[in-house]
Amino acid sequence: MNREIKNKTKRMIYLILCIVLFFVFHFIPVFLNKAGLSQYSGIFSAFQYACCLVLVVTNQKRGIITSIILLTISALNLVRTIFIMGATNAVSGLSNQIFYLITIIMLGDIFAKQEKAAVTDSLTELFNRRGLHKKLRDSIEDNKPFYLVDIELGNFKLLNDSFGHIYGDRLLKKAAERIKSHIGDRGIIARKSSAEFVVILKDTENAEKDVNKLLDELKEKIVISSEGDYLDCYVTAFAGIVSFPGDSDSYENLLKYSDMAMVEALHTNSQSACVFKPEMEKSIKRRAELEHLIKEGIENNYFYLVYQPQYILEGKKLRGFETLIRMKLPGGTFVSPGEFIPVAEMSEQIIYIDDYVIQRAMKEFRDVVLNDKPDLIVSVNVSARNIGAVGFAEKIKQFLRDTGYPAKNLEIEITEYCMVSSLNTTIDNINALRSIGVQFALDDFGTGYTSLNYLAKLPVNLLKIDKSLIDNIETDRQKCEFVNAIISMGHLMGCEVISEGVENEQQLSKLGDTNCDFIQGFVWGKPFDYEIAKSLALV
Ligand code: C2E
Ligand code: MG
Ligand code: MG
Repeated sequence: MNREIKNKTKRMIYLILCIVLFFVFHFIPVFLNKAGLSQYSGIFSAFQYACCLVLVVTNQKRGIITSIILLTISALNLVRTIFIMGATNAVSGLSNQIFYLITIIMLGDIFAKQEKAAVTDSLTELFNRRGLHKKLRDSIEDNKPFYLVDIELGNFKLLNDSFGHIYGDRLLKKAAERIKSHIGDRGIIARKSSAEFVVILKDTENAEKDVNKLLDELKEKIVISSEGDYLDCYVTAFAGIVSFPGDSDSYENLLKYSDMAMVEALHTNSQSACVFKPEMEKSIKRRAELEHLIKEGIENNYFYLVYQPQYILEGKKLRGFETLIRMKLPGGTFVSPGEFIPVAEMSEQIIYIDDYVIQRAMKEFRDVVLNDKPDLIVSVNVSARNIGAVGFAEKIKQFLRDTGYPAKNLEIEITEYCMVSSLNTTIDNINALRSIGVQFALDDFGTGYTSLNYLAKLPVNLLKIDKSLIDNIETDRQKCEFVNAIISMGHLMGCEVISEGVENEQQLSKLGDTNCDFIQGFVWGKPFDYEIAKSLALV
């Protein structure tokens, strides 16, 4: 409100100044002429020009228009003096006046270009951060309802690091074009930071539906070309929405809340836009705390490993173990990986965690595998960020050399999210490691949204049916048939199949009627500490 009063006052002062100048510019030349003081008209026109320059510098856009009007008035006065009053000595004054006009117009053009450049993002030609701030302030002053939408391309950094800046820039341009074509003239679009866009969405009947449609469009395949090479990219896009004036009428809060809602979408891996809710502030604080704890944990070793057994369904013979990380704080509090892994996955911290787990598990089981159990499989979870990075395969080969652990006894669990990050690099990494014997499992199968056609591209050996599909399988006939169909499909794809999260005998008996190969779940074994897992392996 304060700002509005200030702006109104400024506008009034400017208007009064213009009116005063108008009279000065119009009457003084007439007065000088009538009083026979035309020798002073040169000084006066220089004074006029100086006034115009001050107007232009202090109030660029309006200053230029006002100056052009004022200088034109003076020029017309001179034309009248020359042609009606026959004062030919005023010709040089007129030519000066025309020169002033041209310089003011040129200055206006330079300023306009400068102003545009100052608020435009040179890569995407959208508004930049400064432009966004200006447009957002203007929209608030207009006082008409709008939505502020924050959109982040979640996997951009990974793609940029993997394929280089030229591809990265092209990807951003294409994403910006998609946003532009979806929003059209219904809003104002800005690039807030590297892969973060903000839309001031003004004309929409249902903002959530509208933004979800935009997210779907952004997630469609983007083909990037460079020097004859073509690259298929899939971006992950997350969005947060806040409404003006419903959620806030403050400029700072609108930006903060839309960012919070976007971060919430990012952390919960929400495929649709998150609408801001006041409770979000709490979960963001917790995530910041976890980020700090992970950092501390890396420095002070809060992490350790547990191993959950996997069995061959027929005959309950041990197949191997899934390695699972645990975090214990100095006070004795445990933090569940379900809570800290998603936070670590938002940054490079996950790379450290994954690499630590892989090396440690291989070191712990190397002797068991080499001396006693040559068929034992130790599986490790690897995040999309890691498997999708160039150099992952080489890194694992180095770990294998360093630890002396046999490649064929290592299984890497990936999830389908690695497909939306960088499919080609992921596949290259998998193929490079499969060629030396490393096995791959597709974790949490049945929870994602990727089409089967697409999933079939991932060269994995094992499908892990997610616990959510196993839950209630003993009572839900339809679900049971569904699981059965997945198992047959897995076999058709040339994979073995494991059911995870099997909790009771009834589920086990239902799975016994299927062709499921392996079982992992509390029914036959919870995750154990290393010593227990080792003794289980040596039985
Ligand atoms: P996930 O890879 O799907 O692991 C299986 C999770 O299900 C584990 O939870 C395991 O303890 C739990 N589970 C297994 N059987 C049962 C059962 O019968 N009933 C129930 N209720 N739960 C069962 P956990 O250890 O909490 O791990 C959760 C997730 O955290 C994992 O899901 C995985 O995505 C991630 N994670 C764990 N360790 C690592 C790691 O070292 N690296 C990475 N990148 N992610 C990890
Ligand atoms: Mg797993
Ligand atoms: Mg799983």
